[in-house]
Amino acid sequence: MNKISRRNFLKVTGAAAGGAFAVRSLRAWPTGPPVSLAVVPPLSVFNYAQVQLLDGPLREQFDHNHDLFLNLDENALLKPFRQREGMPAPGPDMGGWYDNADDFNPPDNFHAFIPGHSFGQYLSALARDYAVTGSKPTQEKIHRLVRGFAETVEPQGKFYVGYHLPAYTYDKTSCGLIDAYQFAQDPDALDVHWRATQAVLPYLPEKALSRAEQRARSHKSVADTWDETYTLPENFLLAYQRSGNSRYRDLAIRFIEEDYFGPLAEGKNVLPGEHAYSHVNALSSAMLSYLVLGDEKYLRAGTNGLRMVQEQSFATGGWGPDEAFVVPGQGLLAASLGTTHASFETGCGAYGHFKITRYLLRVTKDSRYGDSMERVLYNTIAGATPIMADGTTFYYSDYNELAKKVHYRDKWPCCSGTFPQLTADYGISSYYPSQDGIYVNLFIPSRVSWSQNNTACTLTQTTQYPAANTTQFDFTLARPETFTVYVRIPEWAGAKSSLSVNGHRTDNELTPGKFFAVARTWKDGDRVEVEFEMPLRLEAVDHEDLNRVALLHGPVALFGVDNIPSRIKRSQLLAATRVAGSMHDWSVQADDGTLMLRPFASIMSESYRLYQTVEG
Ligand SMILES: [Zn+2]
Repeated sequence: MNKISRRNFLKVTGAAAGGAFAVRSLRAWPTGPPVSLAVVPPLSVFNYAQVQLLDGPLREQFDHNHDLFLNLDENALLKPFRQREGMPAPGPDMGGWYDNADDFNPPDNFHAFIPGHSFGQYLSALARDYAVTGSKPTQEKIHRLVRGFAETVEPQGKFYVGYHLPAYTYDKTSCGLIDAYQFAQDPDALDVHWRATQAVLPYLPEKALSRAEQRARSHKSVADTWDETYTLPENFLLAYQRSGNSRYRDLAIRFIEEDYFGPLAEGKNVLPGEHAYSHVNALSSAMLSYLVLGDEKYLRAGTNGLRMVQEQSFATGGWGPDEAFVVPGQGLLAASLGTTHASFETGCGAYGHFKITRYLLRVTKDSRYGDSMERVLYNTIAGATPIMADGTTFYYSDYNELAKKVHYRDKWPCCSGTFPQLTADYGISSYYPSQDGIYVNLFIPSRVSWSQNNTACTLTQTTQYPAANTTQFDFTLARPETFTVYVRIPEWAGAKSSLSVNGHRTDNELTPGKFFAVARTWKDGDRVEVEFEMPLRLEAVDHEDLNRVALLHGPVALFGVDNIPSRIKRSQLLAATRVAGSMHDWSVQADDGTLMLRPFASIMSESYRLYQTVEG
């Protein structure tokens, strides 16, 4: 029974709506044998429920996003899908990119740019939020949304007729449905996913197409050349893993962009000019292709690709001014400081950066991927202003010489979809289980619970990092147990950094840029304290422009705010001192005035500047 008619499907879901979920026995997707990875990475991921964020700014972001999407109007969320299928579509319009209307007219008007584009991301975020919190209202909302969406999905449906970016929206819908299945136990989601896949296939090209290839083909609107078929393999492979349906594996292989990954695997930098976020997101497709298919070429593509991104990153860890990668070696990052305010696509970029660094950290155990993740965390997304109930969203971080935090022009843009997915992922990005213990990657107030050799273990992390340079882990164990705790020692950490177990400093030296292993028989009440020396240091924007520098303290970039003195020396920046009584503000005494600096997360409406021009 590969297909069921829409009418029968509605009957089935109608019965399910009564509470019985009889649909479970009527799965329409072909199932296969359980999927095992070709490559099992040494580090795994915890289940969402195992890591809880404790009070702090990141928990606030998580709670805000969970609450906002839990309370969104369901008819409004489903409206574009119902409208495009010619069904009754009650409820208000969401506005912005999300609407189904006919006035989209790039570049002047982006209203109704991609109707319903982020529905799947909101569903995915809610599913992960449910997995973290166990909130029943969240799970019930997910199940209602999946049923409502299912009513609009028909293999010969009209949704994608004349639709500019079918792969883009399908990819997000796909993610939402497989997450609803995996994390919120939705009984219909895999079935709906199979049907949604049948619905989009007639609108997809024969292979992944670069934007240049799309431009070379006939198209009615410029928006028809912006589709992102090259990001599809990751979710197809996840669908394959979760459903066992080998058709998804075939589809993943069909959309692997060999023209992108092949050169990257050989160390050729093919990033310049490409759309930044979607090509970083595609690196996650390379990594999952490596894990599922076992071809090391894709690992090399992911590793080289991220390195090339890092080589053209700002001091914040952000990348891609005007959403594009630049040609290296020409001073183009420095040039962008005077030409654009769209320096880093923050919600999507941070989400994609977390995903690729998580894959690479798990495969390589190289702590520097954790360094990269936390740099993006504290300097970009942690400073994003909250999404508002009307869809007003933070989009671009601004590194212009005359910078301000602003909201994006259009409501419900892409970054409103990735931001709540990312806040749900903060916990699972912080710790990783290995066979012999646990890796501590992020220093966030949090609690992780796991079973080590059948012993129930809990690690509670207390910290005000990165404002403070210390963190503390307290262990609760059902009985003494032998395992190793690996603590990330950031590459910037100074020689005075230290780690103590129950008040005794370890004899072994901490090596910056590595995990530090503490192997012992742990017992209930054990405590680890870590102190990082956080030296102040300068980073130039480009090798070609060594006098334009950002000041960093540990993982945190310090932004000059308000009136910036015209002449500043390197030595003066490096002598910055904390403002008395402030956790966040710093001051620098220059020849003709005082420069105030603060982290991105502390900046409100004041003007700011990331890179200072120095002399001497
Ligand atoms: Zn975005």
